[in-house]
Amino acid sequence: MRYLLFSDIHGNLEALRSILAAAKKEAVDTYIFLGDLVGYGASPNEVIQEIQKLKPLHIIRGNHDKAVSELDSIETFNPVAAAAIHWTRDNLSEDNRKYLAQLPSGPKIISENLTLCHGSPADEDYYIFGEFDAAEAFMYTDTVITFFGHTHLPFVYTEEDRLVKGKFITSKNQKVKLQEKIRYLINPGSVGQPRDRNPDASYAVFDSDEKKVVFHRVPYDIKAAQEKITSVDLPRSLADRLEIGI
Ligand code: ZN
Repeated sequence: MRYLLFSDIHGNLEALRSILAAAKKEAVDTYIFLGDLVGYGASPNEVIQEIQKLKPLHIIRGNHDKAVSELDSIETFNPVAAAAIHWTRDNLSEDNRKYLAQLPSGPKIISENLTLCHGSPADEDYYIFGEFDAAEAFMYTDTVITFFGHTHLPFVYTEEDRLVKGKFITSKNQKVKLQEKIRYLINPGSVGQPRDRNPDASYAVFDSDEKKVVFHRVPYDIKAAQEKITSVDLPRSLADRLEIGI
């Protein structure tokens, strides 16, 4: 089985379309989305409509999805993120708000080997930013592989004989061959708002037969995504950051 792993689209339709086009060529047969369809970008309705066409799809909610659908307060969000949550709430159709509200929270076990979560298996809102966070996260998951998102950074953590190591994925088409007796926490990076100073949309493909994950970056029409943001009442910084990948 070949899975498309993707996360953190954040209302960026141009970036989403570019990774879906690339995934078609990869002969992916199942989609795994790790949360945050909306927030920051100017196309929340269009992104949700695209996602609803993908089948089969395993999906969990992210913290922005939860806040936009008013299942959580925006107290923990910084002012720019909070402004984007308000704008998205005001501009989302009722059907799409209901779709966000019914998304399951992580962690979600989808097979005996696979868990999905947005932030961490310990809590959907936690961040896994280093080996200490990863060591804690491994204690909350029993499966061999756990996929996560939320940090917007492509990363692989391994746990072997209780030793946890992190690997930041910096090169294009980097392959990670999965080994026996090692457990993995894997983040495919962000589709719609990468934060590793590489503005290209990020995703990964997991091949469960070949036991490998390949990380990919694809360019997309950043200008179009920026123009949509600046033409509506969203903070200008949300457009600027896309071209530098922060
Ligand atoms: Zn996010």
